[in-house]
Amino acid sequence: MCQRDCQHWDPEAPVIYAVTPTYARPVQKAELTRLSQTLMHVSNLHWIVIEDAVKKSSLVENLLARTNLNHTHLFVQTPVPYRRKGSVNYSITNNCDFFITNIIMISMFFNLFSFFFQPRGVEQRNAALRWLRKNKTMNDKGVVYFADDDNSYSLQVFDEMRYTKEVSVWPVGLVGGLMVEKPILNLTTGKVVGWNSAWRPDRPFPIDMAGFAISLQHILKKSKAYFAYNVSGGFQESHILQQLTVRENLEPKADNCTQVLVWHTRTEGPRLTEENKLIARGIHSDVGLEV
Ligand code: UDP
Ligand code: MN
Repeated sequence: MCQRDCQHWDPEAPVIYAVTPTYARPVQKAELTRLSQTLMHVSNLHWIVIEDAVKKSSLVENLLARTNLNHTHLFVQTPVPYRRKGSVNYSITNNCDFFITNIIMISMFFNLFSFFFQPRGVEQRNAALRWLRKNKTMNDKGVVYFADDDNSYSLQVFDEMRYTKEVSVWPVGLVGGLMVEKPILNLTTGKVVGWNSAWRPDRPFPIDMAGFAISLQHILKKSKAYFAYNVSGGFQESHILQQLTVRENLEPKADNCTQVLVWHTRTEGPRLTEENKLIARGIHSDVGLEV
C-alpha cells in the first residue's frame, strides 16, 4: 500500500480511520479546512469523508486533493423522511446559494425539535462502515473514529485511541449540557463503572460520538453493527455501542479519563443579512470565489 505523504506512514502502526460526515452550508469549507489541518499532524491516518449529498461536490473534492492526507471520498444523501427540513437543496451547488441557506436557517429555527433530535450523519457513517468492511481485512490493523466536522480535536486524542483493542472511551468537553461528560472509573480495577452524564443518564452508553473509538478488527468482526434511524435522539452512540461491547469491556484512555482531549464545539451559523440583501438585487459577494 503506497501511502501519500509517506513520512507520516509507519506500516507497522495501526491506521486511524477518521470518519467524517459533512454537508453543504456556508461554514463547510471553514470546518473542513480546520479539521483537515488538524488531521495533517496525525501519522497513519486515513480520512473517510462522506458527503450528505447526491453527488461529490467540487468543494470537498478540491479540499481533499489539496491536503496531503490519505483519504476516501464517499457520498450518500440522507433519505427524505430523515432529512432536516429545508436541507433538500444542500447538495446541489458548489457556491452556496445564500437564498436557500437563509430559508434553511429560518426553517431550522422553526424546527428546533427536528434540529436537536433528528439523527445526523446516520447514512454517512453507515456508508463508511460498509466501505471498511468491503475494503479491509482482519490483517489490517486500525481503529475507527467518528470525527464530526465541527468538533475541536487535540492531537493527543489520536495517540490515545491508536492502540484500541476493541472499544476505547474518554471524556468529551462541552456536551450533554455539561462542561464535560466522562466515564467514571474504579481506579483499583481500571474499569468503567459509570458515567457523570446529566442529560438522559439512563442511556446505556451516555457518551458522545467523539468520546470513543473502535478497533478495525472489531468493526469487521461485528459485521452487522450499524447506526439506525429508529433510535431516539441522542441514542445513536448507545445504539452502536450496544452492538459492539459491554460497559465492563471498555478501555478507558486519556489518563484514566482525567484529560479532556476533544470538545463538542458547534459553529454558530453566520448572519448573512447583507448577503441576502445583495441576492435580492441579483448580486453575490462570492461570484467566482469558493468561500
Ligand atoms: N451532518 C450531515 N448532514 C446533516 C447534518 C449534519 O452530514 O444534515 C454531519 C455534520 O457535518 C457533522 C455530523 O453530521 O459532521 C453531526 O452533525 P452536527 O455536528 O450538526 O450534530 P451535533 O453537533 O448536533 O451532534
Ligand atoms: Mn456537531
